[in-house]
Amino acid sequence: MLHLGMKNLLKSKKLRVTSFRTDVLNVFQSHENAIDMGMVEKELGEHDRITLYRTIKKFIDVGILHEILINGESKKYALCSHSCESEAHHHDHIHFLCTDCNETYCLEPQQMPVINHPSFQIDSFEVQAKGICDNCKS
Ligand SMILES: [Zn+2]
Ligand SMILES: [Zn+2]
Ligand SMILES: [Zn+2]
Repeated sequence: MLHLGMKNLLKSKKLRVTSFRTDVLNVFQSHENAIDMGMVEKELGEHDRITLYRTIKKFIDVGILHEILINGESKKYALCSHSCESEAHHHDHIHFLCTDCNETYCLEPQQMPVINHPSFQIDSFEVQAKGICDNCKS
């Protein structure tokens, strides 16, 4: 999804490159699915929790990561595509929850639904789909 290296990605968002920030990004890049905070913490090894929470928040603010609310309760995080900018996430993908392995994936469907309303201006909407993922199907 990301063609830039992690350092360039940080630079393009005008963030200082630190080894902690690149470590956090590498965790996300090594997963094809969205992951929760517990997984990030586990894979980072020893780290300062508050710094991690601040880093995640910062990444969301600048359009590097986005938050996915699963069934209105648990939160997962995934890398954004390069179209996301500060305070403006533009996602042309859906969130797919596998009912078998419980993993969440960002998927680009062949066609995104179009949603219009005669009087409300819709700037963004989220689609969550459920089913069986490719790994569980086979
Ligand atoms: Zn985004
Ligand atoms: Zn699955
Ligand atoms: Zn996503």
